[in-house]
Amino acid sequence: MQRTLSILKPDITRRNLTGAVNQKIEASGLRILAQKRLQLTLDQAQKFYAVHQERAFFNDLCNFMISGPVVVQVLEGDSAIDHYRTVMGATNPANADEGTIRREFAESIEANSVHGSDSLENAVTEISFFFSEIEIVD
Ligand code: ATP
Ligand code: MG
Repeated sequence: MQRTLSILKPDITRRNLTGAVNQKIEASGLRILAQKRLQLTLDQAQKFYAVHQERAFFNDLCNFMISGPVVVQVLEGDSAIDHYRTVMGATNPANADEGTIRREFAESIEANSVHGSDSLENAVTEISFFFSEIEIVD
């Protein structure tokens, strides 16, 4: 079993699609162990996406991530990290497979609905960025 950090981005909360995305997550076999809705500050968004700080899209990405509430989650399942990235679909929704969250819901490469950790190491770091252990219930 693995855990991964998921974020439902502001394009999802703005369109009232939190439940629709959660339905796809749960239908895929992943379990939502923890969840909370937050309004990120610019400082928090910049810290979370620090790995991308040299990228041309960094400022736009951080501004998008603070444009409305997000829902942060801990998901658990077999190979949860890779499994969730498959359920999410490609970064650019135009390239995302049929049935994926991004194909169904994403508005653009920036407003692409969801984040999922990309490695075991990053999952541990990202989960502890948002959650303490007593907030994560098996
Ligand atoms: P995430 O990290 O959000 O799960 P990802 O791993 O599929 O997505 P990354 O390469 O880590 O993609 O990029 C992080 C986020 O930055 C993307 O989800 C997207 O919102 C944004 N992004 C990536 N590439 C671009 C781009 N070329 N233009 C605008 N935004 C981009
Ligand atoms: Mg990423």
